[in-house]
This record gives sequence, structure tokens and C-alpha cells, in this order.
Amino acid sequence: MKNISKEDYLSVIFKNLDEEGGIKPNIIASKLVVSNAAVTDMLKKLAKDGLVDYKPYKGIQLTAEGESYARNMVRRHRIWEVFLNEVVGMAWDKVHDEANRLEHSSSDDLINRMEEMLDYPEYDPHGDPIPSKSGRMPKLKKHRPLSDLNEGESGRVIRVNDFDQKFLVYISGIGVKLDEKITVKEKRSFDKSMEVIIKGKPWNISSKIAKNVFIEVK
Ligand SMILES: [Zn+2]
Repeated sequence: MKNISKEDYLSVIFKNLDEEGGIKPNIIASKLVVSNAAVTDMLKKLAKDGLVDYKPYKGIQLTAEGESYARNMVRRHRIWEVFLNEVVGMAWDKVHDEANRLEHSSSDDLINRMEEMLDYPEYDPHGDPIPSKSGRMPKLKKHRPLSDLNEGESGRVIRVNDFDQKFLVYISGIGVKLDEKITVKEKRSFDKSMEVIIKGKPWNISSKIAKNVFIEVK
């Protein structure tokens, strides 16, 4: 059984709110890879703490307190990731887990100083936007999942999902990194897998991989 903290739940809710500002419990379960029952339990706790509004069968919403808490946790996490990547020299597939541990134990003052030292980065090593001290979120450039590209289309990687370390290790191995150009050579309609070209080399990738790599739309 994975031990997932309240902060992790709040971060996932914050990062995956839909257009109406809500999220369905089953989405939270799939993002965190936990059971629906575990999500229900945690949502009850978060609602009791005044951090979410939880109504069964309706979307979950963050309260004002929940939102500022989650935004700050996301900020801590992403600043730690930049620090670990740029200063410590850790690969992008290692920084997420490390940042998960550090984000809880550092003071806001330390985070602010790191941010200054890093010259106010706007994006983390996976291309995710970093909320500023005042809570402003840098705008992500227009992008779409690689899985949406058609045969013959190409574009540059602007963001990747950072939730699964093995996924990051795998895509690093085939040359995927931020700003790398990817061309879709073939798209197979029966299983949505693709042959893509990265640095002149062909690779077969599953639709699951293609759904988690995001390409800038020009
Ligand atoms: Zn990240």
C-alpha cells in the first residue's frame, strides 16, 4: 500500500482541475494510482480540514485555503526540482521523488532564496509552470499531446508528465527531452502506437507514452 500524503492529494487536485474548476474522484485515483476507496477516505479528511468541498457524485473543488496551500506545495516542489536538476546535476527522472521528500521539510524562506538564486525560473525540468511568490502562474505555451499529432507532423517537446519515474527513464533513453524535435512517421489506427523520429532515429512508442509527452503548437 502506497503512503500518499494529504499534500500529494492537494497537488494532484490542483494540477488536474477541469474547466469548471472541479475534478472527479476517479481522476484523482488514476493519477495517484490508488483505489477509489482510498480517494474517498482522503477526501473526507480534506473536507473536514476545510481544504476541499466534497460532495459525493459531484466534482471536487478546492476551497480558497486548499488552493493556496496546494499552489504553495506545487511551487516548493518545482523549485526543488529546478535546484536538483540545475545545481546538483540530477537527471530529470530522479528529481521528482527527491523533491517530494524535500518539499515538506523546507521553509518558505529557503524556497524564496533558492528561487532568487536560480534567477526566478518559470518552468521546472519537466516543463511545468512554477507559481511565483505572489501566486501568479506562468502561462504554458499552447501544446497538445504527441498522440494527437498526425503522420508527417512534427514539433518540439514542451512538457512531459513527471509522475512515473520509469516512464521518464524510458523516454530519456530514446532521446526525448525538453525542446527536442519529434516527427511522427507512422500512426497505427488499430492500437494508436506510433513510429517517431528523434535525432534521425526511428522509435516505436505506445499510445500511453505518446499521451504523456506534449508538443508545442506553432
Ligand atoms: Zn516536474
